[in-house]
Amino acid sequence: MGDDGRVAAARELVMRLLYIEPKKMLTDEPVIDDLTLRMVRALRDATRPNYTFCGFHECVCGALSDSTDRILPNGWMTNTLCVHYLAYHRGEIPARDLDAVSELPLGTAIPTSHELHGPMVRYADGTKIIRPIDGPRERYDRPKSSNPLNARHPRAQLLTRTSRVDSAHHNLA
Ligand SMILES: [Zn+2]
Repeated sequence: MGDDGRVAAARELVMRLLYIEPKKMLTDEPVIDDLTLRMVRALRDATRPNYTFCGFHECVCGALSDSTDRILPNGWMTNTLCVHYLAYHRGEIPARDLDAVSELPLGTAIPTSHELHGPMVRYADGTKIIRPIDGPRERYDRPKSSNPLNARHPRAQLLTRTSRVDSAHHNLA
């Protein structure tokens, strides 16, 4: 493939970012590194298209997207599970999507539980529907100080994760 073909193929992929269907179950802990933070920032700065996509993306773990896709500030389309995929299904994200995310501006805001796990789902009578995603959601939502296992400083955890994923990322190249 010539350079032109490769550029065209890359553009086609990044125009629709993180439309993936993970096959494996999610990881126990979210990966919150520079890629996740870039995605959080881009998603918060995104706009909604002037149509409603009638339907949700549902991840293998039960996490649900919003009913409307998003347009990132650079014009790429994505869906509201993009942060979830990066945090919980990193191993199944194609290298080109990871490269595309690494081009987004740096972010510093930590994702909210909703951004990581999607909306809570309940039956009409209010009973919670149990999904695999709810385990990690509850761990993430639990007050950090009441659980000694989660007592590590979030910033320290963030830096450890970042360096680990950076080296894995470079090995791919
Ligand atoms: Zn998932």
